[in-house]
Amino acid sequence: MSLWLHHLIGLFYPRLCLACTRQHPPQHSLLCPSCRLQLPRTDHWQHQENAFTERFWARTPLYSGAAMFHFVKGGRVQHLLHQLKYGGKPEIGVQLGEWFGRDLRQSLFFQSVEAIVPVPLHPKKEHARGYNQSDVFAKGLSMSMGVPWYKHGLKRQQFTESQTRKSRLERFGNVEEVFVVGEAAALQSRHILLVDDVVTTGATLEACAHTLLHTLPDVRISMVTIAMAG
Ligand SMILES: [Zn+2]
Repeated sequence: MSLWLHHLIGLFYPRLCLACTRQHPPQHSLLCPSCRLQLPRTDHWQHQENAFTERFWARTPLYSGAAMFHFVKGGRVQHLLHQLKYGGKPEIGVQLGEWFGRDLRQSLFFQSVEAIVPVPLHPKKEHARGYNQSDVFAKGLSMSMGVPWYKHGLKRQQFTESQTRKSRLERFGNVEEVFVVGEAAALQSRHILLVDDVVTTGATLEACAHTLLHTLPDVRISMVTIAMAG
């Protein structure tokens, strides 16, 4: 598309901030300046023990953990996450990742991270959505932290139909079996940063961490998410 046509379309359909949907963000940004300042950031990355790591106490040995934002129901973070998951806007994840990665790079607790691994989406879901929202966030983190990211570091275990039926009851409450390590050689002995979009109970991240720790006992695990609910 030619530049003048692009500008012309911009006049009639101006881009709106993806968090508040009211203000116009500057060029190359998806968020307006006031959202950048006012989104409910946490300070988790400045403390090795915080509300995020507390959620995993006595469940998963974590080196460090942090959410970027507090999740407020009906708030701008929820809107942003909705756009990321269902609005076909993977660039939100990349931009948030780049932003958060700059903070993490300054943090003593994340400086030794050597590999970034997103929580995998079920392949059918990823195909329907076109991307994995945790993976695009991981990509942005990788760009600003200067740490490699492994899209297939973890994979969803594909069960055959009979396995699914037979083991549904056994697997209930034990999502652990759903994941397998995809790139063991690249990840062994590393400090791995597990990445997800939202942490609520922490069950999914916990299952991913346990899969990594069972398969590669010499790894160290940290976690980050875009938001933390509750
Ligand atoms: Zn805004």
